[in-house]
Amino acid sequence: MHKINFMEVLTAPLKHSSVELIELEDRYNAHNYHPIPVVLERGRGVYVWDVEGKRYYDFLSAYSAVNQGHCHPRLIAALTEQAQKLTLTSRAFHNNLLGVYAEFITSFFGYERVLPMNTGVEAVETALKLCRKWAYEIKGIPEAQAKIIFVEGNFHGRTLGVISGSSEPDSRGGFGPYLPGIEVIPYNDLEALEIALQDPNTAGFLVEPIQGEAGVYVPTDGYLAAASELCRRYNALFIADEVQTGIARTGKLLACDHENVKPDILVLGKALSGGVLPVSAVLASHEIMLTIKPGQHGSTFGGNPLACAVAMEALKLVEEENLAENAEVLGKIFRARMSDLQSKRPDLISLVRGKGLLNAVVINDSEKSQTAWNICLELAKNGLLAKPTHGNIIRFAPPLVINHAQMEDCCAIIEKVILNF
Ligand code: PLP
Repeated sequence: MHKINFMEVLTAPLKHSSVELIELEDRYNAHNYHPIPVVLERGRGVYVWDVEGKRYYDFLSAYSAVNQGHCHPRLIAALTEQAQKLTLTSRAFHNNLLGVYAEFITSFFGYERVLPMNTGVEAVETALKLCRKWAYEIKGIPEAQAKIIFVEGNFHGRTLGVISGSSEPDSRGGFGPYLPGIEVIPYNDLEALEIALQDPNTAGFLVEPIQGEAGVYVPTDGYLAAASELCRRYNALFIADEVQTGIARTGKLLACDHENVKPDILVLGKALSGGVLPVSAVLASHEIMLTIKPGQHGSTFGGNPLACAVAMEALKLVEEENLAENAEVLGKIFRARMSDLQSKRPDLISLVRGKGLLNAVVINDSEKSQTAWNICLELAKNGLLAKPTHGNIIRFAPPLVINHAQMEDCCAIIEKVILNF
């Protein structure tokens, strides 16, 4: 048997090429992703560098987790300072930052209580559990009868709970049986929502204010406000999954702010830590949150002091560096340039859409075609990283710290690639 000398492996200088590292991943890692073939080893602000030293603009931002830019010095300082004091206590004991963080985040977003978790999907699961608990204890739905409405095209993560409400064959297929108590209705359809809400066992409505993974689908103006009002009328909870759209990405602190909607339950993740470590949160009123009692829900890592320290700094940065305003202004410039490009290459681009710095360029080809993928490979060669979603849609979502000159530079790269394609 071949013996591995672990000391040698651990101390050997890691000087593999991109090709070798991709080969290693391919051989030993699960095949649950299909990445663009670049291997990144360093990041700063809007830039990332691969192992060969090539620099790229990051136009994915780890699916909007790195809104504050890669390795923001203040976030890394908050992380390293706290990491030397205390990282994890579990919730068996109090820690000196959880209360401070809870006060900070609830006042930041205007809620009464927070339930801290780690990943986005855990926070969505938490919201679903809270919604059911509220339905039984406050609304008075008979035990095990509660129904939660999801919408077609949603993406809330990958657990069995949330894929039970998915309409995506890739997310769902082969993983049944699914969770009962879910009804899926079309997105952006108020009539369908009202019909679903008329069932007295409806506990809540879960929605992404803009559908990110589906391909940056922006609903009709007024949809969120009307949906939230319908929920209020039928005494069901309006649950906004702002894991991708929240924290300044769409040009406001929350995407719901565009319509002055305050969700009954707000779900946040990703940029809550600026991409430094997994931090997610569920925010709600006393009435909703206190339906969950000690022992009924939790997480070993949720609310750990390291996460609290980083999340507070991440949110302060969003405000102090005016990231929402920057996303609003530069998003308009980006869409104007891309719409202009569309008029020059209507054969290649069929649509440009988005809000703030969450945008998509729809490629005029089928979902099964390789066109968008090949464009992304060309973009990478030219120093800009983006990835298709749903085959023919390219999402463009740079870190929100991008400045005007960098944005102009990036638009020029995209234009060059599209015009020469
Ligand atoms: N909700 C939305 C809207 C998302 O976009 C995502 C991830 O892309 C999730 C939930 C899941 O987050 P995580 O991958 O951190 O579990």
